Amino acid sequence: MGRTSFDFEGETVIVTGGSSGIGRAIALAFGDAGATVLNADIDPDPKDADADRPTHEVIGAEGGTAEYAETDVSEPDAIASVVKAAREYGGVDVMVNNAGWFTRGDLFSVDRDTFEKIHGTNTNGVFFGTQAAAADMRDRGEGGVIVNTASISSTHAQADQIPYDSTKGAIRMITRGAALELADHGVRVNAVAPGHIATEFGAGADEKEESVAAGDLTKPIPLDRPGYPEDIAPTVLFLASEQADYVTGEMVYVDGGWQTF
Ligand code: NAD
Repeated sequence: MGRTSFDFEGETVIVTGGSSGIGRAIALAFGDAGATVLNADIDPDPKDADADRPTHEVIGAEGGTAEYAETDVSEPDAIASVVKAAREYGGVDVMVNNAGWFTRGDLFSVDRDTFEKIHGTNTNGVFFGTQAAAADMRDRGEGGVIVNTASISSTHAQADQIPYDSTKGAIRMITRGAALELADHGVRVNAVAPGHIATEFGAGADEKEESVAAGDLTKPIPLDRPGYPEDIAPTVLFLASEQADYVTGEMVYVDGGWQTF
């Protein structure tokens, strides 16, 4: 059985940051659901310890169609090129702006380069990814769906995370504003907000497992375990699917209940 029961046969999906972690799980789930998947990542190789083959190879091996497009999402022209490349497969139907970078630092220690770098990847990446995909969807006149990876950090501050949290707050409002502006074009825009997910992102998967087990978070996770990339992918596919036809501008938390109290 595939990882999800959604049907994206005949649709073209771009996933930024699809090589590793959450993006990889999303790309694999879309591949399982029959989509043509373009993984737009700066690095073709998975960082995950248990993932030894590039995402597009795994999808391809299971009969699906997938390509890797080397892309730095902080460069608007690079994202626009991937959207243009998707025309070869009929044009982008679903854009998942997921690539992200993390750094930690308190208000007084973060310098301008670091602040601009994280906003370049996380904020610019989502904004220009949304812009490029939306322009193509508008011009083709067939509608489309955009799903952005936000975070519990879109709404909840944690110590020494202003640079990262501010990018995720911005992603929430890019999502809402774009939903408003694109509704007339038949384009829905939503976000998924993961909680503490065991990937190599930030602290690293093992360390995250350990800190959840030790209760070493600012507050506990009601479902009492870290999340995994496979916990996030089904929500992204739901938001991208026809089942979510009346959902736009929304941000769905997938966090084991962390932000609810
Ligand atoms: P990850 O490090 O496993 O994967 C991130 C991917 O993005 C990598 O493949 C990396 O090569 C790619 N990437 C980084 N910079 C890029 C750039 N400039 N251009 C193109 N690709 C780039 O991390 P992850 O945990 O899977 O994170 C994915 C998304 O989920 C991020 O946006 C992150 O902010 C968000 N998120 C993660 C967590 C978590 O706990 N892991 C929680 C909330 C939100």
